[in-house]
Amino acid sequence: MTKTIKGIGASDGIAIAKAYMLVEPDLSFSKSSVSDIDAEVAKLQSAIQTSTDELHVIREKAKENLGEEEAQVFDAHLMILADPEFTGAVEQKVKDEKINSEAALDEVSQMFIGMFEAMTDNPYMQERAADVRDVSKRIMAHLLGVDLPNPALIDQEVIVVAHDLTPSDTAQLNKKYVKAFVTDIGGRTAHSAIMARSLEIPAIVGTGSVTTEIKAGDKVIVDGLTGDIVIDPSDADVTKFTAEAAAFAAQKAEWDKLRNEPSITADGKHYTLAANIGTPKDLDGVHENGAEAIGLYRTEFLYMDSAELPTEEDQFQAYKEVIESMKGNSVVVRTMDIGGDKHLPYLPLPEEENPFLGYRAIRISLDRQDIFRTQLRALIRASAFGKLGIMFPMIATIQEFRDAKAIFEEEKAKLVSEGVKISDDIEVGMMMEIPAAAVLADQFAKEVDFFSIGTNDLIAYTLAADRGNEHVSYLYQPYNPSVLRLIKHIIESAHAEGKWAGMCGEAAGDPIMVPILLGMGLDEYSMSATSVLKIRSLMKKLSTEDMKDLAERATKESVTNDENIALVNEFVKKFSK
Ligand code: PEP
Ligand code: MG
Repeated sequence: MTKTIKGIGASDGIAIAKAYMLVEPDLSFSKSSVSDIDAEVAKLQSAIQTSTDELHVIREKAKENLGEEEAQVFDAHLMILADPEFTGAVEQKVKDEKINSEAALDEVSQMFIGMFEAMTDNPYMQERAADVRDVSKRIMAHLLGVDLPNPALIDQEVIVVAHDLTPSDTAQLNKKYVKAFVTDIGGRTAHSAIMARSLEIPAIVGTGSVTTEIKAGDKVIVDGLTGDIVIDPSDADVTKFTAEAAAFAAQKAEWDKLRNEPSITADGKHYTLAANIGTPKDLDGVHENGAEAIGLYRTEFLYMDSAELPTEEDQFQAYKEVIESMKGNSVVVRTMDIGGDKHLPYLPLPEEENPFLGYRAIRISLDRQDIFRTQLRALIRASAFGKLGIMFPMIATIQEFRDAKAIFEEEKAKLVSEGVKISDDIEVGMMMEIPAAAVLADQFAKEVDFFSIGTNDLIAYTLAADRGNEHVSYLYQPYNPSVLRLIKHIIESAHAEGKWAGMCGEAAGDPIMVPILLGMGLDEYSMSATSVLKIRSLMKKLSTEDMKDLAERATKESVTNDENIALVNEFVKKFSK
């Protein structure tokens, strides 16, 4: 029976394929005593052998689909499986205590996990705890006869269905086969949603219950434009959505014609349309979509893709590649924004009640100056290859900005004294994403070279509504006059000091927000590369003069988010050229 469920459209596009369930299996068991020890040991050995065979296949597939680096994590798992200290200890426990393999495995793995986790002065060994957990889960699944999802093994077109996807889960999805993903939880600006947009995979998040509504192998239609998920569609549904997919492709082809054109409004003003990237691998998308600059390079993904802290040289190579590829056009690199929903296995962070309000981003960088200084050195060295701006994430106070800038100046002076060639016009700016900073934008503007408004967080902190929580998504209101007033104040404060203001939150690529921003005089718009051409096409139709009145009314007269949506639609309809 056909069924439609609704979620939050997080990445445009339409896909039709079979469902692949990326859900945690039930691995519960009860401890029991066994009488036939030989049979129990044979069962254990067979589960270990099957896990080993399976991991060899997964490793090969991961290498084929995702590359050698991603595949290497499985080597650590194979080593644990082959280690008699681990698997031998499980077998011995079965024999000595005459208990079932599941209980023996659980007890031995908990012992190893506890031991590794206690090695707080050795992050490398601490990371082994996660490997033991993974391996033991695999053996347990085979003991219980339960299937484990193996995303690296996907080799046909599917729609991934998951409760949630972490940024690292998302990074493992192979675009060739994963045609879309849908999740129970999450919001439009969660990092997995942002990554889906840069991968150009349609995505729907925050459905509430999709994992209980869909079964593995069900035929599913995902419409990322509307947020509709159709399970077991009728022939008529398939025909309708196939036509919509064709219309979407035609619209994209139309936008594509603007790829090599500048971004100019109807009244002849030029604005920079820039792209956000997470890794040098995203550069193809930047060029294919005709972005004129990079307004945000989220460097934390470089740290997340690595098995240990990336060296100065590793980082230098990545930054240089990005800067060179932009051929003199501006590249704004943000220093590491770890914390919140982005973790490093080798940098254990304290358990926190509210990680989004916790130890993260610049707070970690100022605390762990060894990490921060290495990153700044790599960046300053890379500045010699083009036009670089550096910005700091999550700045809340002027003192934080001053401290970060002073460390930058120290590292710059050291490199100069070492005779390293660097650019003499590196701009140093900050993300404007915390209301405390936004309110004081006039004071910050005296000290920075530029602002980049991070609406993803700014909206969340202004309305105290988590960006990834579907239960409060009704409060995540980009056009709420409170948010718009902060944005206006930030832009005007920058201009009053002769500085520029950009926006790198998702709102910069939002067709409802852009007319308001044009009216406010925002200088640079940085977005998922896949939104650039859509926004270029919109800008061509609008005159900044007409939009000034819109910006005034949206911040002074309107009192709700919805009123502002209606106001923008009215202005765009009336003034589109
Ligand atoms: C933002 O908060 O708007 C932003 C661009 O940063 P991130 O999405 O990485 O938190
Ligand atoms: Mg942010």
